[in-house]
Amino acid sequence: MDDEKFIRRCIGLSQKSMDDGGAPFGALIVKDGEVIAESENKAQSKISDHAEILVLDKAHKKLGTADLSTCILYSNCEPCPMCSFMIREYKIKKVVFSVLSPLMGGYSKWKILQDEELAKMPDFFGKPPEVIAGLLEEEGLKIMEKFELFNGLFGSGTGLKN
Ligand SMILES: [Zn+2]
Repeated sequence: MDDEKFIRRCIGLSQKSMDDGGAPFGALIVKDGEVIAESENKAQSKISDHAEILVLDKAHKKLGTADLSTCILYSNCEPCPMCSFMIREYKIKKVVFSVLSPLMGGYSKWKILQDEELAKMPDFFGKPPEVIAGLLEEEGLKIMEKFELFNGLFGSGTGLKN
């Protein structure tokens, strides 16, 4: 199944990102079954350079339009609120991610991806994308857990201990 294939590629990117000295995140964008953009996380040098932001910018440049409503975004981890908002602005039709982020996510925690009200401003935002959450989460989490700083911060059922 294509979704699994692309999520595995994101999980691979998350490992590569760590090997390159960054945090374990990787994302890609698919249009008509083909990868048109992919990136690791670069937030170690610039806070806003999350993998999702970088692939949205790349896809925007490549397609020459800010309307990415024919595109699917894949990420090894649930997009944060910043990225989720940008996903809505770029009108991405479907979002697939592996590891859930109940403490910091734009889907589990802040519901930005599924917000219906944003869609009432169609000049600026797309409809809530179809979301597939937690695909191959165990595999995705296995990589993220190697990054010590993230221990206990990601994965379904995560909660802060007092
Ligand atoms: Zn983000």
